[in-house]
Formats: sequence, structure tokens, C-alpha cells
Amino acid sequence: HFYDAGLASSTRGHHENLERIRAALDHREFLLYYQPKVNMATGALVGAEALIRWQHPERGLLAPAAVLPIVEGHPVALEIGEWVIDTVLTQMEAWALGDLKIPVSVNISAQQWHRPDFPGLLHDLLASHPSVDPSRLEIEVLESSALPDMAQVSQVIHNCGKLGVSFALDDFGTGYSSLAFLKRLPVDVLKIDQTFVRDMLDDPEDLTSVEGMLGLATAFRRLAVAEGVETVEQGILLLRLGCQVAQGYGIARP
Ligand code: C2E
Ligand code: MG
Ligand code: MG
Repeated sequence: HFYDAGLASSTRGHHENLERIRAALDHREFLLYYQPKVNMATGALVGAEALIRWQHPERGLLAPAAVLPIVEGHPVALEIGEWVIDTVLTQMEAWALGDLKIPVSVNISAQQWHRPDFPGLLHDLLASHPSVDPSRLEIEVLESSALPDMAQVSQVIHNCGKLGVSFALDDFGTGYSSLAFLKRLPVDVLKIDQTFVRDMLDDPEDLTSVEGMLGLATAFRRLAVAEGVETVEQGILLLRLGCQVAQGYGIARP
């Protein structure tokens, strides 16, 4: 018999049970980090993305990967999702008092936005923060999560759009986007996945993919946002390709 301490502890970490995560919610151990989105041509701050973290009393600050896969498919994921939106709206109110009024985006799991009452829930959350202009809230959905039932999904986006919020397609390029999909999905923003940006200086195919995605964004009149810009060289190349808005460690960490 072999005992692998690393494996054992990672398995233990992975099985940090749902009860513990629910307790973390009650004990306010979750927090949101915000990563700025910047127009690289002008230097202007154009928004921020909220990213969840778990301030674990023993294990320190944990990334979403320590939480999200464990709660997936369980009701607690919906509670966390609601907490995220409520916390973002509260933060936006606080920032507005300091005269900072920027759009903020939140990531939404498929489970959360596939529920039929999601537009109603969003309405109630917005109603409890009346000073926040709903047009400053942007919802990021994963490209892969939008595919299975596109008709239903575009209905949800349409209904949420009536509330004034906007949508972005996250991790664009990693799913199975078709032209029909882009035509029918009323999202305003396409976020070019960081895996393409990371290697585009060395890998001609990644560069071609980025160029293709920027072409689609232009053709469909959507705003392209590059994710994962880590170096000045990547930023310069993106600007040369016509992509001005970006997010990444090279600009600021969350
Ligand atoms: P995402 O929405 O695509 O977010 C971008 C991720 O890339 C974040 O990781 C961010 O910290 C990281 N990142 C930003 N710039 C760079 C860079 O220059 N280089 C590299 N290597 N990484 C960069 P994070 O915070 O670990 O989040 C991972 C994923 O977890 C997110 O991917 C999102 O899908 C999900 N997530 C985060 N917060 C939430 C949440 O509140 N709710 C839900 N449902 N999902 C969330
Ligand atoms: Mg995102
Ligand atoms: Mg992404």
C-alpha cells in the first residue's frame, strides 16, 4: 500500500463538504475581489469583474476552484450566486458614494441562470438596491453553458435585458460558437478567452483565432474584451489588432 500525502490532502480539500461551505456563507468567509477592465488606448478604467474568494480560517485565501466544483448542482450554489449579486450591488452603492460609478460584471453559473425564476430574482435584487443603475450591472455567462438550450437561454437574456442589465459571453472561443449562435444570442460583450491571448505571440494559430474572434465581434457589433493580458507585448499586439479593452495581470490582479 502506498500513501501519498499530497494526494490525500488534495482529496480532502476537494471533499471539503457542502456543509462546511454553507457554514462559510453564514460565517461571512466569502469575499469578492475586483479586477479592473481598462481601455488600453486611453488608459481609462471601463469596468471591473467580481471574482469570488474564500478566506478560509485554516487554509488561507482560496480561489473559486476550491468552492465552485464542490457546490455545482447543489442548492447552496444558488445561495452563493445570490450572495455574489447582492454583494456586488452593495459594493456599487458604496463606490457611488465615493463618486466611482463603473460597470461591474458578475459570473453566473449555468445552474443559476437556467432556473426559470432567475429574471424575477434579479429583479428583486436590483429593487433592493434602487440607487444602482441596472445598466451598470453586467452578467457573464460561460459560452459552454449557453449552448444546450439556446432558445431558453436567449429568452432569459431577453427577459433580464428588460430589467436593464447587460450580458457578456465569457471564455469566448472555447465552446462551440456557431454563427447562428452569435446571431441569436443577445449578448453585448465577447470576452476572448485567456488561453488564446496567452500564446498568441508565439503560436500563429492562437493569433489567427484571436483575429477571427475580433472579426466576429466587429461583424456582429459586439464589444470584444481580451482576458488574461499579462505583458505589454500582448497589449500592444491586441491594440494593433483593434482590441482596446482588456483585463489581466499585466494591468492589475484582481
Ligand atoms: P473567469 O470569469 O474567466 O475569470 C477570469 C479568471 O482569470 C480569474 O480567475 C482571474 O483571476 C484570472 N485572471 C485574470 N487575469 C489573468 C491573467 O493575466 N493571467 C492569468 N493566468 N489569469 C488571469 P479566478 O478568480 O480564479 O476565477 C476562475 C473562474 O471561476 C472564473 O473565470 C469564473 O468562471 C469562475 N468564478 C469566479 N467567481 C465566480 C462567481 O462569483 N460565480 C461563479 N459562478 N463563477 C465564478
Ligand atoms: Mg468572467
Ligand atoms: Mg473567462
